[in-house]
Amino acid sequence: MGGCVRRLSVIGAMISKPPEPARRACKATLHTNLGDPGSYPGLIESARTLLEKVIGITVDGEASAGFTSGATEANILALYYWRRKGRRRVVAPATAHYSVRKAASLLGMEIRTVPGDPEQMLDALSSGLDDRDVLVLTVGTTEEGRIDPVEEALEIAGRRGVPVHVDAAFAGLVMKWLPRPVRLRLEEPMGSVAVDLHKLGEAPMPLGVILAGEDLINELYFEAPYIPSGSQFGVLGSRPGCPVFAAHASLHYLEQTYGSFKGMAAALMRAADQIIGELEPYGYTPTRKIETPIMCLQHKLGREIHLSLQRIGVKAYSCVGGRGVRIAVMPHHIYDGELECITYYLKLAASPFTSPVRRGGWLES
Ligand code: PLP
Repeated sequence: MGGCVRRLSVIGAMISKPPEPARRACKATLHTNLGDPGSYPGLIESARTLLEKVIGITVDGEASAGFTSGATEANILALYYWRRKGRRRVVAPATAHYSVRKAASLLGMEIRTVPGDPEQMLDALSSGLDDRDVLVLTVGTTEEGRIDPVEEALEIAGRRGVPVHVDAAFAGLVMKWLPRPVRLRLEEPMGSVAVDLHKLGEAPMPLGVILAGEDLINELYFEAPYIPSGSQFGVLGSRPGCPVFAAHASLHYLEQTYGSFKGMAAALMRAADQIIGELEPYGYTPTRKIETPIMCLQHKLGREIHLSLQRIGVKAYSCVGGRGVRIAVMPHHIYDGELECITYYLKLAASPFTSPVRRGGWLES
């Protein structure tokens, strides 16, 4: 059933597995505090060059940026900015990450949920965006890897004067080179973009970036009297500086391994197609044509497939209300040989000997 030579306890998670050079960089800089970068030699410079690199990979044209602990914090910060500008309602598709609803709740903003289906979403947006609103779109939804119809939605939002935040937590580093490329320019109505480096960047957690125009980023610095620079970015106080040093190493490692981020995007999509092709004969079907290297695989056993996976000691993420298995293909799955194990465990879970619907079968007796 394949060449899996290791024991996995979780399959298909979006969590990085930093390559050795990144681990070494983190170990050497564990004592540094990104909440006070001026006090640690090299951290300010390392942070500046990393942000420049992420801007170049992710968006077109000019941008400013700041580090966050991840996309949750980036989503909170973006909505915080728009709330200060008088926006009181977050409009987001049902498929948006739960952190968007969390952010709205923390900020005391209303939330209007629109359908995740692109056509219905655009219909809903056409008939009800107004000057109370800020719109959140996703490039690479958590469960199915969908890309929201960004171009069309930006057009509608632009006509209504509604700012847009794009949550590209997972796909931000590869979105320019996906089969349906997403090119974002931080010009109205585009307000900001969230990208995680501890996902496809294979950097140690916690590390994300918010990209936006200078005004938005500047408003996310808060007074911090005893910090040498006198200010601090974002929600958190003290936070590890080591992921910044390590991210340089992991991004370099990925570029060396795949030739470029374009090469990495292609390799991840090929791997995703390979998983689907291998698993289809075992009863798995993707819920939709994949757009990013994330898929939701439904099995003919339905929800039982999760019990079957539990039985063989592996946890998988669920999607579409527990009816499917969510797999995110990560760079390390390819160069670390985990891909074979993902397919191996899923095949095993679908085998008649393991399946819980075969009561009285092999493993039940
Ligand atoms: N947004 C999306 C689309 C995600 O997939 C995730 C995590 O999976 C998040 C936000 C939250 O990211 P973090 O855990 O880095 O805060």
